[in-house]
This record gives sequence, structure tokens and C-alpha cells, in this order.
Amino acid sequence: MTLSTGASHARDAPVNTADAEFHHMVDLVATVRHHFGHGSFRPGQEDLVRAVLDGHDVLAVMPTGSGKSLGFQLPAILLPGTTLVVSPLISLMKDQVDELNRRGVRAAALHSMLSSDARRDALRAARAGEVRLLYVAPERFASDHFARLLRELPIARFVIDEAHCVSEWGHDFRPDYRRLRTAAAECGRSDGQTGRPPMAAFTATATPEVRDDIVDLLGLTKPRVVVAGFDRPNIALRVRPVSGESEKQQLLPNLVGDRRALVYAATRRNADTAAETLRLAGVDAAAYHAGLADAERTRVQDGFVSGAVRVVCATNAFGMGIDRPDVESVVHVDIPGSLEAYYQEIGRAGRDGRQAIATLLWNYADVKTREFLIDREREEVPGRPTFAVDPADVARRKEIEHKKLRRIVAYADAAGCLRATILRYFGDPAVHEPCGSCGNCDRRAPVDAAARLLVRKILSGIARAGERYGRRKIAAMLVGQVEELPEPLTRLSTTGLLRDEPPRSIERWIDAACAAGLIRASDDQYRTLSLTPLGREVMAGRVEEVQMTVPAARPSKSTRPRRRRRTARGGAFRRR
Ligand code: ADP
Ligand code: ZN
Repeated sequence: MTLSTGASHARDAPVNTADAEFHHMVDLVATVRHHFGHGSFRPGQEDLVRAVLDGHDVLAVMPTGSGKSLGFQLPAILLPGTTLVVSPLISLMKDQVDELNRRGVRAAALHSMLSSDARRDALRAARAGEVRLLYVAPERFASDHFARLLRELPIARFVIDEAHCVSEWGHDFRPDYRRLRTAAAECGRSDGQTGRPPMAAFTATATPEVRDDIVDLLGLTKPRVVVAGFDRPNIALRVRPVSGESEKQQLLPNLVGDRRALVYAATRRNADTAAETLRLAGVDAAAYHAGLADAERTRVQDGFVSGAVRVVCATNAFGMGIDRPDVESVVHVDIPGSLEAYYQEIGRAGRDGRQAIATLLWNYADVKTREFLIDREREEVPGRPTFAVDPADVARRKEIEHKKLRRIVAYADAAGCLRATILRYFGDPAVHEPCGSCGNCDRRAPVDAAARLLVRKILSGIARAGERYGRRKIAAMLVGQVEELPEPLTRLSTTGLLRDEPPRSIERWIDAACAAGLIRASDDQYRTLSLTPLGREVMAGRVEEVQMTVPAARPSKSTRPRRRRRTARGGAFRRR
């Protein structure tokens, strides 16, 4: 896969020279204004439109509402022939077709809800080359009759909307999507060239696994990947390490305050507990999870949407279709299962563009709960097609879930910019580090002499070890835990140099020094540490001014706040 960022693809030879010459002369901004009434492109849109116009296969990953549709609608207007759009939701299809026709762009849809008259009309218009965009439900591809029709149509682009539906690992697998690769291969091109028409796949699901599935299963050839629109600069990001449940309950009322807020928990019981804590602190909060009666769930959801309920404490069952633009705070009292789930949940904050804040309360012990939830999952998962009961599939899915969990743990533990960590994971090129509005960027400051000395000792440890070892071994060497170390590391001048520090703390300083650009970790699985040129200068004492995010002190057992109210409240804060 090649990643298309900025104008990089403009340097490559276009696939179809005639097309390319034509549309490179077109003023795309004027065209957008003329047909859609938008004054300018949003981030990523112009790259996307050009990649599709250039005749490349394209994978576009952009969040819902970011304006993906323009990526195929505008090319469909400009290119000769009909652009076929596979879309799984009839209502969305109808909306888009109506909207296009209202704007004077001829479009039609083929799906099961159509009367036979309407279907005949749509087909006739398509055959006559009168429709710019033909929307098609995926089930259509099961019909031989439809397959024959397809071969007769001059197709400009074969577009697959909601392309994650092709992947079992997405949240909405549709077996019919598996037919699309073959279907596309049988289509003729409107530009008279041989081979299938260029394909363009669109999705809001940014997980690397799903992305790879889309490319493989749809058979995209050297696709241009356009990722954009994931940054939500008005949401400040915070990770707050805590020692346990009681500290979470202590912090929660202040994190919510008088804001409109969503509080997410891993389990129903934790959602109930959070709501209870808030109510005791005088905050009017309601719980929402699958364990409540339908009527109560409706009451809470409607209440939140209307504004009558200000704070909802929920499991991930809450949120689909919640459209309340003025959510000011999202607090996760437990670590979510994946970075994409986390980003989707905090994405419900600040929709109105005003400043909002997302806080993750982070206790490593919570990871165990998540691991348990993943491993406990039996062969049959409600809502998943039953053919997935092949034990190999189940094992693979669990492995993916564990991998996703590791990514959110890496986020919670990140030493560098939190926003950059997320955007990098999604592959969004809009990464600029430091972002200036996350907890780690806020803590970035010149380090004092003591911290600088500690960092210099770590840097010399890495140098003495020959820049051939990873974080864990270097930390063990520095603190003098030599039992399991390779022999050469047990007798360096730096072995045991930081005897008084816990290894975990050294590892966090190493991460911080990586984020500050003093240490580099190799890209392979070994993550071998070496010094950057700046790191060498700092080690040698030639550079004294070091900007870095000092690792947040982990709450240790001795500083753990005493559990409050426990006896008085009859164990309402039971541990798991
Ligand atoms: P998606 O398919 O990514 O969910 P849509 O394509 O439906 O999103 O676009 C979401 C909304 O954004 C639509 O109302 C659309 O008119 C609007 N929109 C898209 N592009 C632009 C733009 N460049 N400027 C202003 N509004 C836009
Ligand atoms: Zn940042």
C-alpha cells in the first residue's frame, strides 16, 4: 500500500493520460462550488478527488460526516460513463440519490425496496448512459440478471461505500461484499481501456487489520490510501494514572463538575457505581447499560438528547446515534478495549467545535478485566455470523482483540504527544507534535539538573551496552537486576548505576527520552535502543537545555488514598 499524503501522488504518472490531462485543467474548487455549494475542500478531500480522478484504485479512510461522498460524487460528475456505488443502507442510498437529483446531478438506485416500474426506469436510464451515479445494494450482485446488465454498462469508477463490510473483523460484516471483487472484474470501462474500472473503497473504520482486509478482499491494486479528518483539535486529551477504584471515585465528581458529560465504564456494575458516586456528590447522573429495562434506557437516552439528563454513565452500549453537540467532557473510568473504540467514544465530545476534554483514568490492573472479557468470549458471539465458529477464526479474532488492547495500553502509557499517538495509529498525516493540548504536551518542559543527570545515566547505559538492546534489558541492567540478563550486560560500568530506581520508572524515562528525540527505537520487533545525535550531545553534557515530558509519577502503594465511605456505604465500591 502506498500512503498518499499531501500532493505526493501528483508526481506519479497518471494511469490514464487523457483523463488526467483533462481534469488537471479543471478547476476543482469551482466545480465543487458549482455543484455542491461548498466554498472549499475539507482536509484530505482534494487529494481524494484527484486520486479517484487519476484512475488509481483508492482506499479512503475518513470519519463519518467528514465528507467522504464528495470523493466519488465529484469524479462521477466529471468522468464519462456511470459511476457505480455499492452501498449497504437503503435509507442512505435514497438520501444521496435525492440530494444529487435536487442538485441537478442525475442519479438512481437499485435495491429491493424499489417497485418493478422504478427498477425498469433506473435500468433503462443506466443503459442509456443517462445516470452519472448508480447506487446499488450489495445483494444485487447475487443476481445473474444484474451481473449481465453490469457487463453492458460503461463504468467510470467502481465505488464501494462502507467498505469495512467486506471484513469479518469490522463491526458490520456482509457476506455479499465478498462478491464485489469478481463483480468489478467483469465490468467494462467507460474510457474504452481494457481491464476492470478503477475501484475506490470508502470507510470510516481505521483499524489496520480492517484496512488490510479491504485491500486484499476487494482486490485493490496498488491503492492510494487517503486518511484524513481524524484530528479533533478542540478535544483536549488527558491520561490520569490512578491507584485503584477508590481514587477513581474520588476524582470523578471533579472531572465532571457542572459540565455536560459522558462517563464510560467497562462493566454494567462500574457504570452503576460511577452514577452512584456522582449522585452522592450532588451531580444528577443516570446509568445506561444493557442490564436496564428498555423503558429506563429510552428515558436516559431521550433525556440526554433533550438535555434533561446532563450526565450519563454508560457501558459502550450507549452512544450509537447520540447527537448532542455540546458534550463537554468524556471520562473513561476503565480502559476501553481498543484505541478506535476510545476515539469514537471521546469523539462524541465537542461536536459544536467548542473546547472539550477527554480523560482516561488509567490503572494497569484494569487491563486484566479487559483480557478476561476477551478470553472469556465463547465461540458464539451474539450478532456475529455463526460461520465464525471455526476455532482457528475464534483464536485469530481473540489475538486481534488482544493486539487492539495493547494499542490502547500503549496510548495510556505514551510518553509523547497523546494526539500524535492516536493520529499516527490511524495513519492520519495531520500529525504535528507537540499538539499543545494534551496532558503530555502540557507537561513538556525543560528538565531540572537532577532529571538531566538521570537521563544522562540512561543514555550512557544504552551507549555502553553497544546500542544493541531493548528497553527492558537496558532498564534491568541499569538497576542491577542481572539474573536474566545476557552476560555482557552484567559487567558494564553502568550495570547497577541506578540501583535505587524501580525498573518500571526507568522504562518510563526511556519512553520519555524517545519522545523527546534523545533515543531512537528500531522499527523491527526488537525495538533496539540507540542514541540520536541530540542524545549523544546530551550524554556528553554539551547540550544542557532538554525539553521533555517528565513521566507522571505512578501512584505507589504508600501514596494510595485510603478507601473512603466503604464501610458507610456497605461495600458499594467493591473491587472486581
Ligand atoms: P460522510 O460520507 O463522510 O459521512 P458526507 O459526504 O455525507 O460525509 O458529508 C457530510 C456533510 O458534510 C454533508 O452535509 C456535506 O454536504 C458536508 N460537506 C462535505 N464536504 C464539504 C465541504 N468541502 N465544505 C462544506 N461542507 C461539506
Ligand atoms: Zn500533544
